[in-house]
Parts: sequence; C-alpha cells; structure tokens
Amino acid sequence: MEKRVYNFSAGPSALPLEVLKKAQEDLLCYPGAGCSVMEMSHRSADYQKIIDGAEASLRRLMDIPEEYAVLFLQGGATLQFSMIPMNLTHQGETTAYAVSGNFAGKALEEAKRWGSAVCAASTKETGFRAVPKITKDMLPADAKYLHITGNNTVFGTCYNELPECGDVPLVADWSSAILGKQLDVRKHALIYAGAQKNIAPAGVTVVIVRRDIILDPVDPVVPIMLRYKPQIDASSMYNTPPCWSIYMAGLMFGWIEEQGGVAEMERRNRKKAALLYDLIDSSELFSCPVEKESRSIMNVRFTLPDEELTKRFIAEAKEAGIINIKGHKSAGGLRASLYNGMPMEGAEALAEFMTKFKA
Ligand code: PMP
Repeated sequence: MEKRVYNFSAGPSALPLEVLKKAQEDLLCYPGAGCSVMEMSHRSADYQKIIDGAEASLRRLMDIPEEYAVLFLQGGATLQFSMIPMNLTHQGETTAYAVSGNFAGKALEEAKRWGSAVCAASTKETGFRAVPKITKDMLPADAKYLHITGNNTVFGTCYNELPECGDVPLVADWSSAILGKQLDVRKHALIYAGAQKNIAPAGVTVVIVRRDIILDPVDPVVPIMLRYKPQIDASSMYNTPPCWSIYMAGLMFGWIEEQGGVAEMERRNRKKAALLYDLIDSSELFSCPVEKESRSIMNVRFTLPDEELTKRFIAEAKEAGIINIKGHKSAGGLRASLYNGMPMEGAEALAEFMTKFKA
C-alpha cells in the first residue's frame, strides 16, 4: 500500500484504517453471501441483516428512543433542506431558521419555496464568527419548528448549547458533528446528517425523526420520493437504497461502538481540537477567527497574516503529508477537520508542522 497521508478534508473525509480494511476484506465476497455487498440484492436476507444491523447500532450509539424513526436516504443533507418543510408543514405555514453560515442560509432559501420561512437570527453581519443566540421570544408565535445548523463546517462554529426554543420543535442539521460529540436526541424533533464526515463515504443521509411530528398526510403535491412516511413504512427501502454507503455506515457504527461509543469519540475529538486551538491561541502567527463560545471541535479554522503565507503553508503541509487544509472559499484561511476518522497522531502531526512553520 502507498503511504497514506493525514487528510483533513471537511468531507468526504478520512475513515479509520480498520474500517477500510474490513471493507477490503469483505469486498470480493461478503461472508456467507458469495458475492460483494455491491452486487447484492437489497431485497436479500443478507442485505436486510446489514441495514437492520446498521440501524440497531446507530440507535444504541445515540440512544434513539422508539418514538423516533431512523432513515437512510439519498440526496445528501441538501435534499433535507426541502424535505423537512414538505413533511413537517403545510404549504405556506411559518417556520423559523437561525442563519449561522452558508448551509443554514441554503436551508432557509429552500424552506422559503414552500412556506413562510423567516430568519429568526443571523450572524452574517459579523462574518459568522459565532452562532446566533436564539431564545423562544425571537421566534414567530406560529413557527412550526426552529431549524439550526448544529455544526457549521465552513465557519468552524457549533451550537455548544442548544437554543432555548420552549415547545417549538427543534430541527437540526448535525452533518458535521453527528457521532463526533454527544447529542441528546430527545431535545430534537429531527436530526439529519450527510454521512460523508463522521459516518461513511458519501451517498447516504441519516434522518432521525420523531414520528409524531411528520404530517400524515402531507400535501398531495409532495412527490413520493420526498415523503418520509413511505420510507419509514419500507424501512428506508421504498426504492433501491445506497446499499454500499449504508454497509460502510454499519461498519463505522460498529467501530465506534468498539472504541467506546460517542462519549469516547467526543473525548478524542476534544483532545485533538484543544491541541490545535491552544497552539493557535498562544501563537502570534496563527489566529482563530471564531469566538471561543462557538468553537467547533470538528472543524478548526485558523488564519495566517497574509495570502502568500497561507499558500506557502498549504504547499509545505502537503509535502509533510498533510492535505486538504485549505479553508472553504467563502471563509478563506485554513481549516482542519478532525472527524472520527482522524487519529490523534494526525492532529499531533499537524501541530508539529505548525510549530515548525512558525519557527
Ligand atoms: N450541511 C452541512 C453542515 C454541511 O457541512 C454540508 C456539506 N458539507 C451540507 C449540509 C450539504 O451536504 P450534502 O453535500 O450532503 O448535500
């Protein structure tokens, strides 16, 4: 095998070597099936075991109560921007959105196509350096739900405390922190996440939704593939699911369970993030544009004084086996994504490189 580098990509991102090796081992012939998971019918008993096992494992990891359905869907987190209003509200109804970054903004724009979606608070004016604080009195009285982006991948911010929204159901995009930190499912009406960060390769989106919040029936105009109910009734197999990605998610869930669960993932992720934040905060060369209270443990953003140094940092990091460290084009600077697949040694290698670069 060629040497693997430390990949700090924001997603699709690094997966643990053990998980990749297990997939490699099963690639040509899944035990007992005589063929690869890629070649298996999704209607076979073998595949049923894979998808049921993945769901059971996720339920254990996140302590998901029975009154919540777990779905494995396609279309990425982006399709949820549309599916959420269509399944939780009638056309024209009011919803509230906290705008904490680009994806939150996109979610709001999609919701506006369907109903009266309002921006309850935004930190756009200050460059998304923190998540907007939300209290119940900031929400329209008839808001059907409040939508937040729990962790903002691009801006390196996170709701480290959930907003106080009283009896207004909380809907959250946890794409870049699910399973990377502990989340109280019961405090949410719906959680969704694209898999390609903490869970699996791209291709599957996890939706955890309290069953009583889904409209039944939804407005007749909602296409069947955009309805949660048929997918719940068919255990995520209303049509052919993203079989391989779900299988990989199952492997990843199993790996997280073996490592000690989400609490252990969070402990490791905090340690990796603290190493970098401490170095940045104590340095005169690097700085972190994110306010302390809102800092994400999954995506650490930092900057250098000018564009020239930033380019040099990226190029020299690559030579040192550290890749995908460039910040998103809308945020600039640098960003290290420290998902579950990034080992402590990766964060240490980056910290060491930063220290050398400074010198
Ligand atoms: N929400 C967040 C927080 C994200 O980070 C991303 C992708 N990076 C998305 C939504 C969009 O996800 P997808 O590409 O799966 O549609």
